[in-house]
Amino acid sequence: MLLDVSRALRAPGEHFPFTHYERIAPQDISGEEVTFDEPVVLEGRFSMSGDELTLEGELTATAHSRCCNCLGPAEVALKVPFHEVFTKVDYPVDDAEDDPDRLVFTGHKVELGHLALTLAVLELPIRILCKPDCEGYKALAPSYAAAERPNPFSVLQNLITNDQNDQEV
Ligand SMILES: [Zn+2]
Repeated sequence: MLLDVSRALRAPGEHFPFTHYERIAPQDISGEEVTFDEPVVLEGRFSMSGDELTLEGELTATAHSRCCNCLGPAEVALKVPFHEVFTKVDYPVDDAEDDPDRLVFTGHKVELGHLALTLAVLELPIRILCKPDCEGYKALAPSYAAAERPNPFSVLQNLITNDQNDQEV
């Protein structure tokens, strides 16, 4: 969703507090569905310097998935500090041709949906557990549980690929 930053555009160098509400659609992560409570909250402050908008603060979210040991419901409370710089550009750029690491915005509103998704997903533990000491079937087959551990970078790669597929539709 869009965050209105016109206050910062009018007063470069000043810091403005903000609270922004996002929603994150259910994600398929290594074959498990992860859902997020609404809203996902980004809270902090933003300021403008030249054509660069700095957003800093903390994302708060609650994720739900299945415990990878006992397969029962598992909840993960996320608190993710962020410090991001968005560059103001005159025209929307095609993400596919642009540097994907570069965050941009046009006009006086910044889209924070993708940032919220990236922050939340990268913060998810590799193995989601219902409780830290859940034994579940891990106690029965520890070698199997270890072999199932996904590589966090392949998870991120899947996300990026999914995003590109979305844009082609
Ligand atoms: Zn469990």
